[in-house]
Amino acid sequence: ENTSNKIAAGEVVERPASVIKELIENSIDAGADSISIEAKNGGVSLMRVTDNGSGIDDDDVEIAFERHATSKIRSANDLESINSLGFRGEALASIASVSVVELTTRTINKEYGIYARVEGGTVKELKQVGCPVGTSFVVSSLFYNTPARYKFLKKDSTEFGYISEIVNRIALAKPGISFKLTGNSSVALHSPGNNDLLSVIFSIYGKEVSRNLLPIDYEDSILKIKGYAGKPEISRSTREYQSIFINGRYIKSKLISAAIEEAYKTFVMKNKHPFTVLNIEINPLLVDVNVHPTKMEIRFSKEQEVFRSVYHAVNNALLSAPL
Ligand code: ADP
Ligand code: MG
Repeated sequence: ENTSNKIAAGEVVERPASVIKELIENSIDAGADSISIEAKNGGVSLMRVTDNGSGIDDDDVEIAFERHATSKIRSANDLESINSLGFRGEALASIASVSVVELTTRTINKEYGIYARVEGGTVKELKQVGCPVGTSFVVSSLFYNTPARYKFLKKDSTEFGYISEIVNRIALAKPGISFKLTGNSSVALHSPGNNDLLSVIFSIYGKEVSRNLLPIDYEDSILKIKGYAGKPEISRSTREYQSIFINGRYIKSKLISAAIEEAYKTFVMKNKHPFTVLNIEINPLLVDVNVHPTKMEIRFSKEQEVFRSVYHAVNNALLSAPL
């Protein structure tokens, strides 16, 4: 059982950033509106994710670390129209099999919380403690028992860069949640959680970007798009300024990128990439999301319609700007 968890961990847990991603997604699924993330030495020595979500009931604490333990799917039908971010029940088991995990959690209906310490997938300590409602995970000694994977970690600053990228993305997708990311001692991101996408963009990219944006607010018969299109002059030579979310999930899509670039075609030089943040809401039945957990590519069943909608959403925003 521990061996298969370690193998599964290879798929889910590639590096510290993938641990952070899974923990944050669990916090979101638990209804948290405030999530703080701490990463020491690029997350390799320690990661802490603390939320004010529902907490885990004391009866469920040990179960949560078991493979395929998920509280999020009730029937096979749910797979078709998945709403929660996690649904495989693999993340915690995988993370715990290759690290030391400490969990402190309390639900609203209990006057005590639970502390659990899990090493390499085995529960070493379990006790009642006093703590606030919500959940805090501390993951340390990542890959201590999988030296081959440990060896592939990059330098701390690079690993922290990956973490920061992931947290920024999730913050953009969830403007209603306050995210705080702390590196060795400095705060890398603190989004207000006031449901205002522009203030998230401000906290990530700063003043220069956030004062040069055109709002996108588009709806047609197949999708809804909210977001911002950067004015052509803040375009960059890399594509990292493009963030696309489908139903709250960060994705990469050649189709959507092509539609964005087509919309900017007459405004931006060929080798430049515009700043765009698109939150797209679409009927989940038109999207294939049941892909590998770490893959971000996505498939649509109405490609031409999606292309046309994204093109119009972005183009309308650009045309509305005073030139
Ligand atoms: P999944 O998210 O796919 O269900 P995970 O392995 O990520 O599987 O988590 C296992 C279970 O642990 C979740 O289904 C949930 O019940 C519980 N859990 C994990 N993290 C949290 C959290 N931060 N708050 C509340 N419950 C949590
Ligand atoms: Mg999960």
